[in-house]
Amino acid sequence: MSDTRPTVSTLLQRWATERPDDEAVRFGATRHTWAQLDERVRRVAAALRAEGVGVGDRVAVLDLNHPSCLELTLACARIGAANAVVNFRLAPPEIVYVINDAKAAILAVGPEFAGAVEQVRDKLPSVRKVLHVGGASDEYEAWLAAHEPDENPYDAAPDDCFVQLYTSGTTGFPKGAMLTHRGMLSHAEHVAHDFALAPTDVVQVAMPLFHVGGMSYALLALGQGARIVMARMPDPATLLDMFADEGITHTFLVPALMGAMTQVPDASARDYSSLRAVSYGASPCPLPVMRASLELFGPKLHQVYGMTEACGVVSSLGPEDHTDPSVAHRLVSAGKPIIGVEIEVRDPESGAPVPAGEPGEIWVRTEQLMSGYWEKPDATASALTDDGWLRSGDGGHIDADGYVFVTDRIKDMIVSGGENVYPAEIERVLAEHPAVADVAVIGVPDERWGEVPKAVVVATPGQEVDADALLAYCREHLASFKCPKSVDVLDELPRNPTGKILKKDLRKPYWEGRERQTV
Ligand code: ATP
Repeated sequence: MSDTRPTVSTLLQRWATERPDDEAVRFGATRHTWAQLDERVRRVAAALRAEGVGVGDRVAVLDLNHPSCLELTLACARIGAANAVVNFRLAPPEIVYVINDAKAAILAVGPEFAGAVEQVRDKLPSVRKVLHVGGASDEYEAWLAAHEPDENPYDAAPDDCFVQLYTSGTTGFPKGAMLTHRGMLSHAEHVAHDFALAPTDVVQVAMPLFHVGGMSYALLALGQGARIVMARMPDPATLLDMFADEGITHTFLVPALMGAMTQVPDASARDYSSLRAVSYGASPCPLPVMRASLELFGPKLHQVYGMTEACGVVSSLGPEDHTDPSVAHRLVSAGKPIIGVEIEVRDPESGAPVPAGEPGEIWVRTEQLMSGYWEKPDATASALTDDGWLRSGDGGHIDADGYVFVTDRIKDMIVSGGENVYPAEIERVLAEHPAVADVAVIGVPDERWGEVPKAVVVATPGQEVDADALLAYCREHLASFKCPKSVDVLDELPRNPTGKILKKDLRKPYWEGRERQTV
């Protein structure tokens, strides 16, 4: 029996037929109804076919957020190809790596990146055409206008790749996670249930579309036929303005961005009454940021834990758990699995389940999972088990009430004298110190203990960090084997575009020429 689940393409056609005049996408002064979006996507599909793009091919987009990226993604899906969205914040050699990894046939590039692409053009052998998009690109509009809307959609199966998003590369080179129609639509369904998202809602796509928190939020809206409102850049003040101006009901932010929003000078004078769910995640959220956000937005916070490989969210901590002082310990958890997701903690070596409360690796099973990493069978086999589980690479535990606590990337855990030390626990303590604005804890080599924790901190503006005082503060709050043995002070921590601290970069100078054992 054939699978009758919808694909993203059939869902788009449905909204175009059932609700043609409802607004689907808003971007600045641009507004497209579902009928217009469908027509534009069909024109792009025809244009891509005319360029020789076919089933299984990859198209790449390198641009800040713009509706053209979404249109290209939907058009690729319509013809059985897939958009490999490029992280525009990568360094030029990394951008070249991703485009070549995807073997992209067409590269759509925004005005901000056109010059850089010109300089590396001869290093992109698979790219047949560079298409200028974004901003006010006449080339893209002319390309659309030159093609009649496609009438022959590829008969995609739910498990075909819908879009290829790259992992953020905190643990190595980015890998292209092939996210399927089934994965994206079940994610949309599960998250819509968690947030009670309705077709009348308005979803802000604050994060870049190359990030799963951007793309999957656009698809979350599409799943329900809700309106997508896109920001070109994740600028804190602009995003705050959009809440009232556009009547935003749902948004997703990374903690660094949410923290920056609370610091916008007149943030507290604005109107947040339309907002129903402010979700945040993708990296641990410092408690001071969480508190400031609660004060600003009110009891509307959902912490979400997730990963590219699962199309986004797998667990969520709802507003009640943010505000009930009797369960304050849950604030450092990532909540409970959302509907449609199973989460277990397993022994990272044997894969055997561990008892409640015991640490191990977080495993996830859900229809949301990717089909694999593009052209990386070994990495796929290490990440996905035969019985449908994703090994997340995250360390954590589940408490007796079923709450998931994400402690650290397993590779970031520190093994000191045989004891597992969780950097996140030390970071939470240090983040509460008034002289510390930002902090990362890494393992550095030690003759006696193998490795020991080191704190790398950024000082609060106007304050000096006194290393001895900071170490003494740690000794007051932490067991001695968890206490950092040294402190480095930096002006800024190296972060990837989604705000994750690049610990491998911080560790590098200390481990030059030595092998680091991980759990
Ligand atoms: P790579 O796999 O290339 O190292 P990455 O794991 O950073 O990249 P992403 O898919 O962008 O790739 O991020 C997923 C990871 O982000 C999770 O596995 C987890 O480590 C972290 N994360 C996500 N949400 C949360 C959260 N709420 N709290 C703590 N960590 C989180």
